[in-house]
Amino acid sequence: MAGILSAIKLTEAGFTDVTVYEKADRLGGTWRENTYPGIACDVPSHLYSYSFHLNPDWSHPFSPGQEIQAYLEQVARDHHVEGLIHFGEEITTCAWNDRRWHLDTVTGHQNVADFVIAATGVLHHPNYPEIKGLNTFVGSVFHSSRWDHGVAIDDARVGIIGTGSTAVQLVSAVVDRAKTLSLFQRTAQWIMPQENPAYRAEERADWSRNPGKLQHLHQTLSELFTSFANGIVNAESPEMAMIADLCRQNLETKVTDPELRERLRPNYRAACKRLVISPNFYESMQRDNAELVTDPIDHIEAGGIRTGDGRLHALDVMVLATGFKVDAFMRPMSVIGRDGRDLAQVWSDRPNAYLSISIPEFPNFAMINGPNGPVGNFSLIEVAELQFGYIMQLVDRVHSGQCREISATQSATDQFESERVTAAAKTIWSTGCRSWYLDDRGIPATWPWSFDRFCAEMERPKLEAFELRP
Ligand code: NAP
Repeated sequence: MAGILSAIKLTEAGFTDVTVYEKADRLGGTWRENTYPGIACDVPSHLYSYSFHLNPDWSHPFSPGQEIQAYLEQVARDHHVEGLIHFGEEITTCAWNDRRWHLDTVTGHQNVADFVIAATGVLHHPNYPEIKGLNTFVGSVFHSSRWDHGVAIDDARVGIIGTGSTAVQLVSAVVDRAKTLSLFQRTAQWIMPQENPAYRAEERADWSRNPGKLQHLHQTLSELFTSFANGIVNAESPEMAMIADLCRQNLETKVTDPELRERLRPNYRAACKRLVISPNFYESMQRDNAELVTDPIDHIEAGGIRTGDGRLHALDVMVLATGFKVDAFMRPMSVIGRDGRDLAQVWSDRPNAYLSISIPEFPNFAMINGPNGPVGNFSLIEVAELQFGYIMQLVDRVHSGQCREISATQSATDQFESERVTAAAKTIWSTGCRSWYLDDRGIPATWPWSFDRFCAEMERPKLEAFELRP
């Protein structure tokens, strides 16, 4: 998503020597890799769209993953950037030498670049759980982002480990197909109710005929989400109270069995973990063939999952909906900055960057959706567009000859990080739950201020925060 965006914007700005490296054989990032049943984006599709390429044809307010994949491919085609992509070319090394970046790919190709943009994503490296006996299971086992479409789900005994956004979408998609569905819950989730009826053909035709209306819809959703994103960073905001009420009512009204209801009730505040949205998760979990397993997993054995109470949950298929390792960013690619500075060392404690974009002593290198940036229930496309607008201004300084090298200063980066950590302590994400937002210290690795502040910050780089070398 971010690579396509960069290629389009750079080409439009007149850059003629742009190369996009893609390790896979197809574009699409998360939407190429996640093909599990029920996958959809829980950010409204009319917001989860490039602002310069709105799509009147979204089928649903929250459209399925395959549609998003097709949209990304269409955008790349329509803007003629597909030809810039080198598929099957994973970058192994990116080293700053003689004032340029030297790139090596896994196939032995080399290239030299004046500026590198890392658009390598966040939720990318599967988190495989360390559960005793995992490899002794004789049925089929795979991570949710590595879905094996050759494995039959219909009439199978399916176990899902995890209760994040992925697992919740999977449950509703699989429960009516599987013989039995067992959901292994380590931590309960708050679920925000959200219906998703298909758009009518007339609505789509109307957006097609009236691009102004489509633009207005995009804008309205953006404003709505901005107010949500502004509210979420303040744990005591009215928006948070409203979300908490909606989630509580959802649980109280939809789950009829009091015992099941209590097992599904989280013991932390709504939106502390990334908010999960679903029209029908609770209904799905109350089907006769569905079971919520809350006894902790003891180990996995040939026939299934053995829980702490000694019971064997016999399974044919086991899905690890156990999330992602979120602190890798462009690693394992080796990134070597000025004077041989190795990113692996610089980030040995944890990833860090000025405004999540620039790293001191890594000149002419910028990240989109990099460390500690805005994540949450809002459009990462919107975030990427704002970040790209900022990065383009750094590129322009080099391109126009104003400087040859540009990177954030260490002092600006340290000051930003210290203010960020202080602010992060006041957010809803640090109110007492475990989630992928938290770093190894338990501090939310996210943008802790309002979305308005993020937009303002992205408008123009503060040059005093950068070192410009002639
Ligand atoms: P996740 O939110 O990180 O959830 C992982 C789940 O696996 C958690 O319930 C976790 O339990 C459980 N788990 C991990 N290791 C375990 C173990 N050893 N034993 C038992 N349970 C274990 O991952 P995700 O659901 O894939 O979602 C990741 C992110 O992707 C989301 O937050 C969202 O940003 C994005 N996403 C978005 C959409 C969308 O519609 N836009 C859809 C899917 C995913 P604990 O809670 O106890 O840690």
